[in-house]
Amino acid sequence: MDYLRKFDPSLNKKRQEDQNNTNDLDYLKLLDMAFSNFNNNFNNIDVNKGQKIKIHSPNILKDGSTHIIWTNFLDNCKSINREPKDVMEFIKKELFTEASVGTDHLKIRGRYNAHQIESIFKKYIIEFVTCNTCKNITTKLVKQNRILFKECSSCGASNSIIYEHK
Ligand SMILES: [Zn+2]
Repeated sequence: MDYLRKFDPSLNKKRQEDQNNTNDLDYLKLLDMAFSNFNNNFNNIDVNKGQKIKIHSPNILKDGSTHIIWTNFLDNCKSINREPKDVMEFIKKELFTEASVGTDHLKIRGRYNAHQIESIFKKYIIEFVTCNTCKNITTKLVKQNRILFKECSSCGASNSIIYEHK
């Protein structure tokens, strides 16, 4: 799908707007330069045995000595069709920490590396996104009687989510 992204004019326009009107991005660019040897790979995340899903690995940059920045957070949320706020709440619970969503990134208090963030993101995908039956990520969340269900549009399965954070 990456080639589509490249040629989608609306996305390029959006990117340009982002670059034009945020200081955040300049800031991120500086961080990027400072940590240019830091994780910048775009592996596909393997969330289920053999099932590759086209999602970029989280890009993590250090932000001083107390925080990290997940630079492609919104892109990652979009790939799995979930609300950034929902994903953020999960991250906060899993890490027992504070976080805040920026224009396209997530700022997290603590010093976590890309590998740690990726495994928590995978956990979210497995719990809240992948269909338990057919393993596709074509699900949406539906709440019924205070119980959350994953409804799959590929196979029609509906699985309740029983997630209790530690
Ligand atoms: Zn399914």
